[in-house]
Amino acid sequence: MKINQNYLSLQESYLFSTIAKRVSEYSAAHPDAAVIRLGIGDVTRPLCPAVIEAFHEGIEEQGKAETFHGYGPEQGYGFLREAIRNYYEAFGVALSTEEIFVSDGAKSDVGNILDLFDRENTVLIPDPVYPVYCDTNLMDGRKIVYLDASKENGFLPMPEESRRADLIYLCSPNNPTGAVYSREQLQAWVDYARKQEAVILFDAAYEAFVRDPDLPRSIFEISGAEECAVEFCSLSKTAGFTGTRCGYTIVPSALKRNGASLQKMWLRRQTTKFNGVSYPVQKAAAAVFSTQGQIQCRENLAVYQENARLISDTLTRLGIWHVGGKNSPYIWLQCPDGMDSWAFFDHLLNNIHVVGTPGSGFGKNGEGFFRLTSFATQEATKEAMKRLEKLYQ
Ligand code: PLP
Repeated sequence: MKINQNYLSLQESYLFSTIAKRVSEYSAAHPDAAVIRLGIGDVTRPLCPAVIEAFHEGIEEQGKAETFHGYGPEQGYGFLREAIRNYYEAFGVALSTEEIFVSDGAKSDVGNILDLFDRENTVLIPDPVYPVYCDTNLMDGRKIVYLDASKENGFLPMPEESRRADLIYLCSPNNPTGAVYSREQLQAWVDYARKQEAVILFDAAYEAFVRDPDLPRSIFEISGAEECAVEFCSLSKTAGFTGTRCGYTIVPSALKRNGASLQKMWLRRQTTKFNGVSYPVQKAAAAVFSTQGQIQCRENLAVYQENARLISDTLTRLGIWHVGGKNSPYIWLQCPDGMDSWAFFDHLLNNIHVVGTPGSGFGKNGEGFFRLTSFATQEATKEAMKRLEKLYQ
């Protein structure tokens, strides 16, 4: 018997446990300090009324023999896939429901999609990055080539023709940086991927935060993407489903590699290894896409967007370089006075009792940078910015 040795070479993820430890030690030593957390990647607004109503309906149906649902289609109920298809159509992307696969969230699918690809493939991953892309590939022993994101390229690295890649991870709006690719930039990525016969794994978990109509929300707004990309999306941040769990993945029928349809392979994978998302959750998810659901979700998103604007405006006034915050819930700032990420973390915690996330936790290029999130309450965000302004004025 041999275990998967690749697990032994994974680095422990100390980022969030170290943050929690430092904050709890600080709070124990300074019980009167009112600590504000702008480091969290979880939402704080509850599910909206339209979603709760549908969720209740789904549960009631499960309690009656006439409306009870047992196993459902592994790829999701038709009513939800149809709702997602219409949602995409509203911003100009034509999909068929067969290309839409409902799941329990983007994280699972981002990891599971690797079942479709050989371990010998070379993977291109931006640095800094959402750590799941690296770890899922390291677990399979795949070779990773890092793409440098930096202040110079606005944390939006572009393809280099001389580089070979089979799988390419792009996340826009980005976690952790909040940077968003333009149409032209994504077109360059699509052209590169087609030339290389690579597949782009596009993470659109934060698409609902894009307000600028000139910026793409889906890779499938880009010409040719249906022949080279898979898109992951999530209701976690769009509709507060972090604890309810629902997402979806788009695998276009036109996407073929080595003569095989990736849509057919993914269908085979899901029907073999997954038994679908619970019926009440899919009912609740479909309500997100209803007229009322969209209005109510937008109201919640507006709170986060206002927080992001407040953080970004404060940093601009203080002359602190940053990206994100306009079409994203994340703000990525350069630590003032040449501080490294952890020194700045301690500086904020000790002086103004505000907690963020050290950029170095997202990759080597994150050193010297810091992530703030807009998911706290408006009151907490305002108070944190008041304290920051006082500290740096
Ligand atoms: N993709 C990105 C970029 C994320 O930041 C997150 C969560 O923080 C996810 C995916 C996971 O989404 P889900 O909650 O749907 O699993």
